[in-house]
Amino acid sequence: MLSKVLIANRGEIACRVIRGCRELGIKSVAIYSEVDRESLHVKIADEAICVGAGSNTDSYLNLANVLMACQISGAEAVHPGYGYFSERANFAVALESLGIKFVGPPTGAIEAMGDKASAKKAAIACGCPVVPGSDGSVPNETEALAVAEQIGYPILLKAVAGGGGRGIRRVDAPEELSALWKMAQAEAQASFGSGEILIEKCIVGPRHVEIQVIGDSFGNMIHLGERECSIQNLRHQKLLEEAPYADLPSEVRQKMGEAAVRVASSVGYQNAGTVEFLVDENNDFYFLEMNTRLQVEHPVTEQVTGVDLVHLMLKITSGLPLPMSQEDVTISGHSIEARITAQDPDKDFAPSTGLITGWRAPGGRNVRMETHCYAGFSVSPFYDPLLAKLIVTGKDRYDAVVKLQTALQEFEISGIATNIPFLRRLVASEGYVSGQFDTGYVPRFLAGEAE
Ligand code: ADP
Ligand code: ADP
Ligand code: MG
Repeated sequence: MLSKVLIANRGEIACRVIRGCRELGIKSVAIYSEVDRESLHVKIADEAICVGAGSNTDSYLNLANVLMACQISGAEAVHPGYGYFSERANFAVALESLGIKFVGPPTGAIEAMGDKASAKKAAIACGCPVVPGSDGSVPNETEALAVAEQIGYPILLKAVAGGGGRGIRRVDAPEELSALWKMAQAEAQASFGSGEILIEKCIVGPRHVEIQVIGDSFGNMIHLGERECSIQNLRHQKLLEEAPYADLPSEVRQKMGEAAVRVASSVGYQNAGTVEFLVDENNDFYFLEMNTRLQVEHPVTEQVTGVDLVHLMLKITSGLPLPMSQEDVTISGHSIEARITAQDPDKDFAPSTGLITGWRAPGGRNVRMETHCYAGFSVSPFYDPLLAKLIVTGKDRYDAVVKLQTALQEFEISGIATNIPFLRRLVASEGYVSGQFDTGYVPRFLAGEAE
């Protein structure tokens, strides 16, 4: 087993990984920026190293400083969490050259799945259905018009290097394309350092359903079932995720699981990863992308499978084989995660920052909390607004929904604005409670078209 692991991340996910390390007897090293000195992840790690000033580029994305921290600490391996360096092949390569292991897939698999165009090629190559669209990136506006005409409107323009819901534009008619093309390109260039755009048919009213996969270095690859993540904000960012997707017919579930394992295996995948699909109203599914890292919403899978994904990731990196086969994986109960963010629902979800003066967290049976925050912690404007993940588990979906409603009623954060009041209304809405929703539900709910 590894003896010391550095966590190249911050916030709740750093806390999650630090705890996993401690449970396995692995020493943990946190990194932090100057403004994150008081974050819980710094307090609960065995060691902590400051990697720079507040901004991400100065600290958590400062490659030289992070690599130096890895060396100074004597860590044998680095867990990247999500975001930051987690899907950057050059980070894994740099670690390798220092003789440090990367808790994640091999570099080749990160590269193969790194951009949406090559990921779709890999999926097509192993016979997995993909969302109809352009063959790779589209060179210019004229070509874009031709491709769109062929596919049929509405279409989406997507940044090839995109992630986190950014760089996606919907085009409903040819006369809109020119302006939106320019916007999408500029946005992609600014956010991802690449202006490359691909075109996809816009699937109307789909469900976002993703499959958790995990593989070891001995060629074993299994899946841990699906997560339903259609409750997304206006910017395609997930808000509420659940496992399982109760209304998914079992034969579709099985086919999606097999497709995910096939795609992952085809690129030599190892460790934890997620294959994302869109499912249309006929329950036909289409490959969307693969995230080559631990996903924000991984806890709901842990709750219904009883598998600790962080433990498994660390064990696989230590060279151990997967301790179970596909037949050993069983799903029991129902789990839902709510992302609690420092965003003000009364101000168009603008970020809210400052001192948390009060923090009264919910509790009770089967209520799990993942957070780096507490009363007295100050939320800085530099980072993602995620404050906490509230995860509830029930015997079935209805039970879990009631538990979520109860827990959100109890949850009080003062000093800053949060999305809790909004989440309370959302989880009480008829469409949400009945499970009748798609990726357009939150936009409709905000527009007053869903109750
Ligand atoms: P998940 O399904 O795990 O939520 P997301 O794609 O929403 O996956 O990304 C999770 C986190 O990683 C978010 O904090 C998001 O802002 C960040 N992220 C994802 N992709 C990128 C990227 N290409 N560049 C920077 N941050 C990213
Ligand atoms: P990201 O890398 O930003 O996570 P994804 O390709 O995973 O981008 O898409 C994020 C979300 O955007 C999806 O969950 C879905 O809601 C929406 N979306 C993406 N592609 C399509 C599509 N072709 N048709 C309809 N909705 C889509
Ligand atoms: Mg995605």
